Amino acid sequence: MPGIDDIDALLPQTQCTRCGHPGCRPYAEAIVRGEADINQCPPGGTATIAALARLLGRAPLPLNPAHGVHGPALLALIDEDACIGCAKCLPPCPVDAIIGARKYVHTVLTALCTGCELCIPACPVDCIVMTPRRATPDIAPAPEPGANRRRFAAHTARIARRAEERARLLAARKHQAAPRP
Ligand code: SF4
Ligand code: SF4
Ligand code: SF4
Repeated sequence: MPGIDDIDALLPQTQCTRCGHPGCRPYAEAIVRGEADINQCPPGGTATIAALARLLGRAPLPLNPAHGVHGPALLALIDEDACIGCAKCLPPCPVDAIIGARKYVHTVLTALCTGCELCIPACPVDCIVMTPRRATPDIAPAPEPGANRRRFAAHTARIARRAEERARLLAARKHQAAPRP
């Protein structure tokens, strides 16, 4: 019986959440639990559906349009003249493909961008645009799924560490602020 790793290995690893799950692995977990169908991944399109159907011994299905449409690999680009350096695009990027510090212009590391589009709604001045990767001259090919998976795992682990740290600090402050007997 194929497991989560087998299913995850067939997914594109853009970590775009369009399947309705917070990343490719959570989608794989939902398929194993019987809570998601095999036709919910727009970046993978029919090729991914066919691969999942083969692995799981099911009939292929058309891509569920409720999750979006399949299209060419995309790349995010920042209009650096318009960027106000607010840093709001950094946290949503699942593979840490944007560099910059608060009050400084931000840039997409094009070799790392999965085209997930998660940075777009975060930008208050709409200075991030998505463009087809192939139509962009002198740009590296899309990053490998394995590299995306590792970068997403590192990103997720860092967020979890920060949340723990914040919770520890809050607890320590509360303890300090508590009235002494
Ligand atoms: S690529 Fe996007 S839609 Fe496909 S499984 Fe991963 S997170 Fe879900
Ligand atoms: S730069 Fe934007 S589109 Fe590219 S991976 Fe990061 S969040 Fe996704
Ligand atoms: S969210 Fe937009 S304006 Fe803010 S740093 Fe990112 S690209 Fe620049």
